[in-house]
Amino acid sequence: MTKQIKVGDVKIGGGAPISIQSMTKTDTRDISSTIRQIKELERSGCEIIRVAVKDFEAAKAIKAIKRKINLPLVADIHFDYTLALCAIENGADKIRLNPGNIYKEDEIKEVVRLIKKRKIPIRVGANSGSIRNRVKSREQRAEGTEQRAKALVESVLNYIKILERMDFYDIIVSLKASSVLSTIEAYKLFSKKSKYPLHLGVTAAGPASTGIVKSSIGIGALLLDGIGDTVRVSLTGDPVEEVITAKNILQALELRSFGPEIISCPTCGRCQVDLQKIAEEFEKCYTLYANRYTLKRFPKIAIMGCEVNGPGEAKEADIGIACGKGIGVIFKKGELIKRVKEKEIVKELLREL
Ligand code: SF4
Repeated sequence: MTKQIKVGDVKIGGGAPISIQSMTKTDTRDISSTIRQIKELERSGCEIIRVAVKDFEAAKAIKAIKRKINLPLVADIHFDYTLALCAIENGADKIRLNPGNIYKEDEIKEVVRLIKKRKIPIRVGANSGSIRNRVKSREQRAEGTEQRAKALVESVLNYIKILERMDFYDIIVSLKASSVLSTIEAYKLFSKKSKYPLHLGVTAAGPASTGIVKSSIGIGALLLDGIGDTVRVSLTGDPVEEVITAKNILQALELRSFGPEIISCPTCGRCQVDLQKIAEEFEKCYTLYANRYTLKRFPKIAIMGCEVNGPGEAKEADIGIACGKGIGVIFKKGELIKRVKEKEIVKELLREL
């Protein structure tokens, strides 16, 4: 069990639901585009948003952005600690500091002094791409998986010591590497040594085709081990895709439920209905239905092509159909309830919801 930290109204750690974060890809100084993207992300299920603060204009833009959005906003700071001071003054709900490029104790002290007044947390966000050379060389330049992980952990633990010496404990930690294995190793190692809540992610995971796989494996493996309190999927692409992927990871692990779950088979030569059409049509109608009603739990629906795995999956789902030649047999709560013609399948499944 990790310590619980609040970012705006969102609780992170200490048994709180695992929250979903993303980062805007707009120039933060372009206030209207940044607000538009944040609103789109909020609609897709993002719960905490981070913006890049690369200069004072961006830090000051936070005030205007915050007025128009509902999500807690995190200021992402690198190199210049005075940008953190400006972002805090302008209403940031959390500051991300990179131990690789803001490490002078007197500078950190300045940030902590102000952040304590505002009662907001710091994320100590280490990345394999920006570990300080001092740590790297001691770890033989961090070549192997284990060495890279150790270097990340050491970098964060050193930073935490500085913050704790200043009596500051509202800390969230990330230890991201572009290597899935190093990421997993680093988080596992750190979680044995500390109770600070963990922000999970595989950094620079790539475009959606590979990034979704890397993130699902890295984040998923850690969550399965009970490690992780908030997640950010990093993709080279639309940030909405990052949020959807994060939701799908959490839903697949049955940690949170965000929408309908449809189990449908890939079909093969045994299938004697147009299962793809049925599944797509049902998904469209079901999503509309789910959005209309605020469901506490979304029923699991199985749409299966034939009698091989069909009846088994259909019986296990809340509602399911196993198809035959131009027909489907509907099961509800494990019981066979009716036999319907192919063209009636979607309508009849919806009727049973
Ligand atoms: S359930 Fe039947 S149709 Fe679907 S993939 Fe399996 S064997 Fe093929």
